[in-house]
Amino acid sequence: MKPAPFKYVAASSLDHALSLKAEYGDEARFLAGGQSLIPAMNFRLARPAVLIDINGLADCAGVHRAAGKGVSVGALTRYRALENDRDFLNACPLFADALPHIAHPQIRNRGTIGGNLSHADPASELPAVATAMQALMRIRSVSGEREVAASEFFAGLLTTDIAADEMLVEISFPEAAPRSASCFMEVARRRGDFALCGVAAVVTLDDDGRCANLRLALCGVGETPVDASEACAALIGQFLTDKAIGAAAAAVPSAIEPSGNVHATPDYQRHIAGVLTRRAITTAHHRIGHAA
Ligand SMILES: Cc1cc2nc3c(=O)[nH]c(=O)nc-3n(C[C@H](O)[C@H](O)[C@H](O)COP(=O)(O)OP(=O)(O)OC[C@H]3O[C@@H](n4cnc5c(N)ncnc54)[C@H](O)[C@@H]3O)c2cc1C
Repeated sequence: MKPAPFKYVAASSLDHALSLKAEYGDEARFLAGGQSLIPAMNFRLARPAVLIDINGLADCAGVHRAAGKGVSVGALTRYRALENDRDFLNACPLFADALPHIAHPQIRNRGTIGGNLSHADPASELPAVATAMQALMRIRSVSGEREVAASEFFAGLLTTDIAADEMLVEISFPEAAPRSASCFMEVARRRGDFALCGVAAVVTLDDDGRCANLRLALCGVGETPVDASEACAALIGQFLTDKAIGAAAAAVPSAIEPSGNVHATPDYQRHIAGVLTRRAITTAHHRIGHAA
């Protein structure tokens, strides 16, 4: 299939991109890696009148670290750049687990973190990672800038809090707490497929070795990434024994409402959500031991 006719404009600067978006609003889409947008246009599922190519905005790509302030990633940073950035993966180890699950190397060469999060596919890995890590989205328009927490950013199926005249410009990840570690796991039909269910867990221990904080977010089991931290809150203050983790993970299947798809029934998705939660928390806990 070929896309419907559209006007193409290559933005020469961020200001140019934002003024074009202010002018065309919902009629226009930003072209980042193109790995979701172009297939959707070719299938005529998306018919933007205007494509604003933001690939030339070098200022919107790259990883920035500030001592004690975590890591900020420009929206146009490609998956491949993150995969190859050892310092970034050390600071945000959930990405080291999650990135290899995204599609295939050719797609990761082009796809961007900003395009991924803006596209907001609920089966995608990074919205769950951003939710578990409590990322902040920096969103800009010609009239100013605002920050939105990941928990507020994903508004529904393929829908975010980004308004028609706005662009996601940067994503910030807070500094990891001491004595914390993380794990992302998923089940997909084939390597590179979207997840039938994925789980991102971040575990923090206190000085006695008890669980001080637990963040849990799932992909593939709702219309947005699902923050299931509350379902496992019983672990806070406890030692993370196999029994305690197993009991907490058993609460997750009933806390989610997957709709199922052609490859997985809702019951199967609930089952793997419980299994992956148990394994992800256990692995994150072991990783703290190894890091200490
Ligand atoms: C065969 C195949 C398999 C795939 N498998 C997976 C997978 O397993 N997991 C997964 O997560 N993804 C998968 N993808 C999708 C891939 O990760 C895309 O790269 C990603 O969803 C979109 O990123 P992009 O940079 O390509 O964005 P684009 O396709 O360019 O844009 C996507 C949408 O976001 C908007 N947008 C882009 N950047 C911004 C911005 N900065 N601000 C506001 N709006 C913006 C665009 O206008 C468009 O509406 C797959 C794709 C293919 C083709």
